[in-house]
Amino acid sequence: MSAEPERPSRPRPADGPERGATRTREQVVPDICAWYAAHARDLPWRERGVSAWGVMVSEFMLQQTPVSRVLPRWREWMERWPTPADLSVEPVGEAVRAWGHLGYPRRAQRLWQAAAEIAGRFGNVVPDDLEDLRSLPGVGEYTAAAIASFAYGRRHVVLDTNVRRVLARLDGGVAQPPATVTRAERDRARSWLPDDDADAALWAVAAMELGAQVCVATTPDCGRCPVRSDCAWARAGYPAWTGPARRGQAYAGTDRQCRGALLAVLRESDAPRHEADLLAAWPVDAAQADRALASLLADGLVRREDAGLLSL
Ligand code: SF4
Repeated sequence: MSAEPERPSRPRPADGPERGATRTREQVVPDICAWYAAHARDLPWRERGVSAWGVMVSEFMLQQTPVSRVLPRWREWMERWPTPADLSVEPVGEAVRAWGHLGYPRRAQRLWQAAAEIAGRFGNVVPDDLEDLRSLPGVGEYTAAAIASFAYGRRHVVLDTNVRRVLARLDGGVAQPPATVTRAERDRARSWLPDDDADAALWAVAAMELGAQVCVATTPDCGRCPVRSDCAWARAGYPAWTGPARRGQAYAGTDRQCRGALLAVLRESDAPRHEADLLAAWPVDAAQADRALASLLADGLVRREDAGLLSL
């Protein structure tokens, strides 16, 4: 989340049940799922027949990057590497190169490592078991649950930023969730899960989509919300957030931007390059560039070759 949510700018009048009526979760969930069926974005990794690997690649790419930037990369990636084994036989540098400008390139490295393990340990099939998924590099609790739910239709708590925000408002009556995931949030999210596997998987993606499209961070479009009259935050009159302010993540001038600039030199080059070429990509602060290069080498995102040249 990049900014503190504000009071909604366009709340529509409550409709459906009277404002005094409180519906059960079993009544609210189908409305959000029906809204999803009518309004979900047409995303290629949600298409019928997409492999679990395709879902997994999308989850890695979407971790820190908006959908619009992920779409072309995901398509290129799946065309080039339709299975984990296809990726794992290439050098890891190719994965980093193909990651392009998605940011946080360690995700590409981790995805390549995970592909190698899937090809070797799991017969080139993304596992459906939560524990097996979590044993893969780069797969944490959220990503494992998302893959199992979206690719295999399993019943799991899938708690990303969007779902957390929807539940904080709809159920918790507050503008935003805590800074980090709490046990209480997990318990609440579990209490919203339908019993049936397929229903739970649909609910997971529907709640996420509502948070991405309507119940957005800064200006939720409550007039389009299918459960406006069930929303505890709306019913309470949108009380202002009184918790700690959230700061947006700065990028300009950071070490992260510096690392990106240095890495771009190698990504856009067909041949290894001199260290000076990379450092020249960040003329603003030589010490910061040195530090960034050292960290890229330490992370294995850049390799030093025999002749002292650098490559991916
Ligand atoms: S859940 Fe619906 S009504 Fe409540 S804040 Fe979000 S968009 Fe508005």
